Amino acid sequence: MSITTFLELKNVTRTFSVEQPLLSKAPRELTAVNDVSLRIEKGTTLGLVGESGCGKSTLAKIVAHLLPPSSGDVLLEGESIWHGSREVTHSLPRRIQMIFQDPVSSLNPRKSIGKSIQEALDVHRVGKPRERKKVVTDLLERVGMRAEHYARYPHEFSGGQRQRVAIARSLVLNPDFIVCDEAVSALDVSVQAQVLNLLTDLQTDFGLTYMFISHDLAVVGHVSDTIAVMYLGRLVEFTSTQALFDNALHPYTQMLLEAIPIPVPGRRSIGTPQHGDIPSPLTLPEGCPFHTRCRRVMPVCREVAPQWLEVEKNHHVLCHLYA
Ligand code: SF4
Repeated sequence: MSITTFLELKNVTRTFSVEQPLLSKAPRELTAVNDVSLRIEKGTTLGLVGESGCGKSTLAKIVAHLLPPSSGDVLLEGESIWHGSREVTHSLPRRIQMIFQDPVSSLNPRKSIGKSIQEALDVHRVGKPRERKKVVTDLLERVGMRAEHYARYPHEFSGGQRQRVAIARSLVLNPDFIVCDEAVSALDVSVQAQVLNLLTDLQTDFGLTYMFISHDLAVVGHVSDTIAVMYLGRLVEFTSTQALFDNALHPYTQMLLEAIPIPVPGRRSIGTPQHGDIPSPLTLPEGCPFHTRCRRVMPVCREVAPQWLEVEKNHHVLCHLYA
């Protein structure tokens, strides 16, 4: 009996039209996400990592059913979330939730945090009205807040506490999939660790599947079972977290790993500086899009785009070095 993959992305591409420069006749198009295919198994965490502007947030919105792809599809337990039945589409707001980097902008400053969390229960008419407050106060306690915080307002809390509120709100409809988009990037390192541990505990308790997006490979490595590395809209490597940290194949992944700070007593500088600037997605280089920054560039890399290869079992890479 075959087991259906929990979430599957099939050749997902998303383009945007951009304003033409003066006197230019050719329409300009930006490909933010280019032919991305990957799978997430139930109850696991997929980490998606890459520099700012690589298309991670666009992909997050497509997966969270907030932005349609230009082509390709996303299957949730075998059903298309973009071309599936009305029944599937109607279930998505309850099944898929998103946690953003900045909880301040997603919480209404004039509403108590309890009311903000409860709003989704009211809109979807979940449970009896008098029972909803109890659901919310239980959730507040589960994420490390207190029941009496229900009546307090967002400005009364620290950044870490507000992110706990955002997590409680993402859980209130009992989803099975959560997309965390740079969810801990704005927090201090010690608070980051607490929130990451909380997310890990909740995953076990609620049977959640996560897509965890960050520019920081160290953070992604801490919580993920598998990792996808993205560069200028394309996946360049996809494998288990263990394989990626033990044997990264793509020169870009190797560069990200070298940049992870390793504190050494007595040394002021930590981490290795990254090479070169990321090219504009509007003027992508010919051949391999990474060739302008790659230390192992070969003549073929400047002319021919590499193919997506499975080099070892479940270890995929986009690079001529392994062809
Ligand atoms: Fe570097 Fe060539 Fe591999 Fe691109 S294809 S990452 S330029 S070696």
